[in-house]
Amino acid sequence: MSISIDERVTDEVEALQAILMDDVKIKMVDGVPEIIETIVHPSTGDNTDQQFVCVTLEVKLTPGYPEKSPEVFLRNPRGLDDDILDEIKKQVKQKLEECLGQPVVFELIGLIRENLTESNLPSGQCVICLYGFAEGDVFIKTQCYHYFHSRCLASHLIAGKENYEEEVEKLPHWQKISAPPYQQTCPVCRSNVQCDVDALKTAPPSVDSISAPPFRLTAELKALQLKMAALLAQQVAKGGVVGVGDTGPPPLTITTPADHDAAANGSSSSAEGAKAAAIVAPRPAPPPAASASDAAAAEPTRRVPYRGFNRRGKPGRRGRGAGAAR
Ligand SMILES: [Zn+2]
Ligand SMILES: [Zn+2]
Repeated sequence: MSISIDERVTDEVEALQAILMDDVKIKMVDGVPEIIETIVHPSTGDNTDQQFVCVTLEVKLTPGYPEKSPEVFLRNPRGLDDDILDEIKKQVKQKLEECLGQPVVFELIGLIRENLTESNLPSGQCVICLYGFAEGDVFIKTQCYHYFHSRCLASHLIAGKENYEEEVEKLPHWQKISAPPYQQTCPVCRSNVQCDVDALKTAPPSVDSISAPPFRLTAELKALQLKMAALLAQQVAKGGVVGVGDTGPPPLTITTPADHDAAANGSSSSAEGAKAAAIVAPRPAPPPAASASDAAAAEPTRRVPYRGFNRRGKPGRRGRGAGAAR
């Protein structure tokens, strides 16, 4: 290595790697450590199930560090509201000033961890029921650090599975047998999750949902309804809404060639067992490459992959929002 690196920096990086191991990422540029990144969690001993918040700390070592302060970024905060984040940022700034001239990354990690430990409670609301988290609530943190009332998440996952099964049921046999098994996903970020729905659904409903006053359609809500209806009409007019209303053809319809012929003849009977099912897509699609063995190649129906299924692994979810999260 020809470039001389400050010994304090090499020592710090080595110590970080020795202590945090895989939990720290060091980005090197021309043999010089430039970015140190680590996810900071609250201290909960070995009990990672009880960590409801976290944040990614990114430290960019400026030339001249540690005589000059590094640039510090807090990314991907989970379970932290803006007030807490602002407070942490304020303390980080202070710490950088205090520690000028000495390595500061461990100090920053400690400071952030302390704050996270104090704020180790979900803030904000459960996106499923839109109520907050109150004392006495039973809630769960997913592997992706999103949290929900346990019972809400159970309802969401049960509804998601039912919806999946319903949609699979509508598929032709050949697609049905190759359909991937249902996979639970987080209603916020769609990461795969693994939850014990039976255990979750035994949890009580959220405290705030029980004590909330009954729903009333206020003048304010009526005004909002009108505003949203106008917005929807505008989107429909522009063709930006998929799968809404029952006027016109459904946006994505699975048919067999026989269905196509039947539809062309004004009949709606369907033929079972047709091998080559086709999709009538709402938008024109380029014609597929003709295959010699494909008897249906001359068939006028556009044949495109069932994109709603293959791309998302979930049939029929196109434009329908996030199930029970709505
Ligand atoms: Zn909830
Ligand atoms: Zn998530």
